[in-house]
Amino acid sequence: MPKQLIVISAPSGAGKTTVARHLLQRFPQLRFSVSATTRPKRPGEVDGRDYFFWSREQFEQAIARGELVEYEEIFGHLYGTLRSQVEQALSTGEFLLFDIDVKGALALRRAYPEQTFLIYVAPPSIEELERRLRQRGTESEEQIRRRLERAAMELQFQDHFDVVIRNEQLEQTLARAEQIVAQLLRGEVPTPVP
Ligand code: 5GP
Repeated sequence: MPKQLIVISAPSGAGKTTVARHLLQRFPQLRFSVSATTRPKRPGEVDGRDYFFWSREQFEQAIARGELVEYEEIFGHLYGTLRSQVEQALSTGEFLLFDIDVKGALALRRAYPEQTFLIYVAPPSIEELERRLRQRGTESEEQIRRRLERAAMELQFQDHFDVVIRNEQLEQTLARAEQIVAQLLRGEVPTPVP
């Protein structure tokens, strides 16, 4: 069975969004799985493209109706994968790319074990992650501290992923991610590189 649900996951700040954007540009047949979230929109984000921005009430109703495959509370906001996105992709044979957190990735694979492939983008180190978070400049000190704490927890999960890419040099990371996705799009299962 082809691995149609391709997940890029990583501790926040490890570079996964850069990788995801690159893959979406490189492979037009790949569609982005737009998640729902209760967090406020950041400058430049578009409702329905980056996320579906919902109120907590809307989100809780969707949970009650079973509309989410998985969801997590992250830094005080809810994030979840819409069942409709997944089911549509599976029924049309489309490939979907997910940018979701580590626990969400594992939950998605539990729900769709045959169709899911998990890619973990690992930061070179917690120190480097801290440097990148500061450089990004979108978070307060307190938010950075919470993200680093969470990253330490998330680093423990990498062994459960199908492949791990250590993001030391962005060019190499992008090339490796491209290679993996090209294989998946051909219906092959990528083999881990030591
Ligand atoms: P951000 O607020 O920076 O966009 O995202 C915060 C975290 O939530 C990131 O690690 C992102 O990958 C994760 N995330 C986004 N959408 C989902 C989702 O649908 N489910 C889960 N579990 N995590 C998500």
